[in-house]
Amino acid sequence: MGKPHPLLHDSALPLQALGAEFPILAQAINGQPLAYLDNAATTQMPRQVMAAMRDFEEKERANIHRGVHTLSQRATDAFEAARATLKGFIGADKAHELVFTSGTTEALNLVAQGLWAGGPGKAWLRPGDRIIASGLEHHANLVPWQHAARMSGAELVILRPDAEGRLHLKDLEALLTPATRVLALTAGANATGERPPYEALLALAARAGALTVLDAAQAASHAVPHLSQIECDFMAFSGHKMYGPMGIGALAGRRAALERLYPLRLGGDMVDWVSYEAAGFAPLPARLEGGTPHVAGAVGMAAAAQFIDQTGREAIDAHVHALRAQAVAGLSQIEGITVLAPHATQSALVSFVAGGVHPHDIGTLLDERGIAVRTGHHCAQPLLEHLGLGPTTRASFALYNTPEEVDRMVAAVARALEMLR
Ligand code: PLP
Repeated sequence: MGKPHPLLHDSALPLQALGAEFPILAQAINGQPLAYLDNAATTQMPRQVMAAMRDFEEKERANIHRGVHTLSQRATDAFEAARATLKGFIGADKAHELVFTSGTTEALNLVAQGLWAGGPGKAWLRPGDRIIASGLEHHANLVPWQHAARMSGAELVILRPDAEGRLHLKDLEALLTPATRVLALTAGANATGERPPYEALLALAARAGALTVLDAAQAASHAVPHLSQIECDFMAFSGHKMYGPMGIGALAGRRAALERLYPLRLGGDMVDWVSYEAAGFAPLPARLEGGTPHVAGAVGMAAAAQFIDQTGREAIDAHVHALRAQAVAGLSQIEGITVLAPHATQSALVSFVAGGVHPHDIGTLLDERGIAVRTGHHCAQPLLEHLGLGPTTRASFALYNTPEEVDRMVAAVARALEMLR
């Protein structure tokens, strides 16, 4: 590594040692060292997470809950220990519970569907009710609400961001009515990097009597919300965006709110009794975890939370913010580049457009130089259209990224634009 970048002179992270913990990073792509800057899509896994999962598979693997045999008991214990670790990670207290899902998408579907399903007179959402979703949302926190509105007869109203992609409390105030039953909001917009004032927005909606739903997918790796300190009924996040495995995630929230949800997955493990005609659902969390869960995934996700805490949340947060600041400064020097949400200093990603050049072409030329970025609508098409934009190029940062990689990315973008224009 070269000398530290001036913007990172006080980074507390031992970058070289940390990078060595991630075997996938030690490879060349197209003959160049890999600079992996697609962390908002999926972060990489450190050895200790893989080791925890392998340990489970080699020594404890069995189906949980159903068995009296020793391995089944060990697997059950490992699953419940993972739950406890993750509850600690997000600052859950006695009033909270955490259920495992396959990821953020399933967690948000579980909430949206769970609030209208369940039969007449039982559902939280009824005809004439109002659901508010912010205009910053990933499709995973928008499409399920469109469906919930259609199925329940509620109306879906969008809390629109301003021209810079910011959300404002006064705009939410104007939308809240006595019929408002839900606010769905992100803790970090994956397409722009915007970090909305979610604490205040959730509190305002909660005071108006709405259930509050927070998509913490982008926050979990560096600025995980502290559940006990916010007015949050449901919070969703994914293992693979916080240095953990794919195919596992969680829905955490207030027990009383989770109890309102009609289960999404009906079947084994989520029932107390079953007759040919009917079934009685088990108490939380089993009630919302029908079927065999991804136990090794839960173990890995908990190991990832421990890895984040050992590394230091504040140090990670400061590090990725500094990388983003460096990227914004560098990209802004290139003629014709517009950086989205340039004010969003608490972000781990930078999204930009270059007039007249398609992001796909930029991404392809960067890949030729071993630099992985993401291009497209980032599953947030309505937001980009609202901002008058199309697809963007996005570089997103993790604890193992270095200032040198950011410099390489900025230089490669400049070269790509020279070639493409
Ligand atoms: N919400 C946000 C803000 C995201 O960035 C993503 C993934 O990019 C999701 C939800 C969906 O997460 P998953 O694919 O892990 O379900």
